[in-house]
Amino acid sequence: MGGVQPVVGVLALQGAFAAHERALAQVGVATRQVRVPAQLDGLDGLVMPGGESTTMSRLLHTSGLFDPLQAALRDGLPVFGTCAGMILLATTVLDGRPDQRSFAVIDIAVRRNGYGRQIDSFETELDVAGEDRPFHAVFIRAPKVESIGPAVEVLAEHEGVPVLAREGAALVASFHPELTDDARLHRLFVHQTGILK
Ligand code: GLN
Repeated sequence: MGGVQPVVGVLALQGAFAAHERALAQVGVATRQVRVPAQLDGLDGLVMPGGESTTMSRLLHTSGLFDPLQAALRDGLPVFGTCAGMILLATTVLDGRPDQRSFAVIDIAVRRNGYGRQIDSFETELDVAGEDRPFHAVFIRAPKVESIGPAVEVLAEHEGVPVLAREGAALVASFHPELTDDARLHRLFVHQTGILK
């Protein structure tokens, strides 16, 4: 779109959305906080942040966002889900609350808080496909991927478990790429999905 700066929404119902806005600004896209359905209009992509997926699921309903957002995602809206955001995008959520819903745009089964209590937060260096130096990854009560479908491409693993993956226009990370100063994964998101050419 000639000369028009792309706009990426950041789901701002709850959780770590402000840091995502900073990272997206670093890679050169405009951002918009999304709290109500009208704020989905004209978006070129969306980030679903970390936080608490059960709370976000509930707020997606009370805000009226769930159904229009599901329609936009099914129409191919590029989306980057981190931590709780990954849970919200998964086809299967293990150890979720019974009333918790997800958008099912990436064929993975994730277990909430799957890394266990004793190591509920940790940091590590990840090798990311296509990147020439490791990415410092912060995991906070992270979801653990237990299975992936055939169309899912794994971009990084930690101890043999996928932690960064994509399918179609959906990119998911079980960690928090917005909490470091390194915006490479936000850049990867906006370039791989064609938001920025
Ligand atoms: N454990 C949280 C959940 O279930 C996710 C944690 C996070 O986003 N940092 O939503």
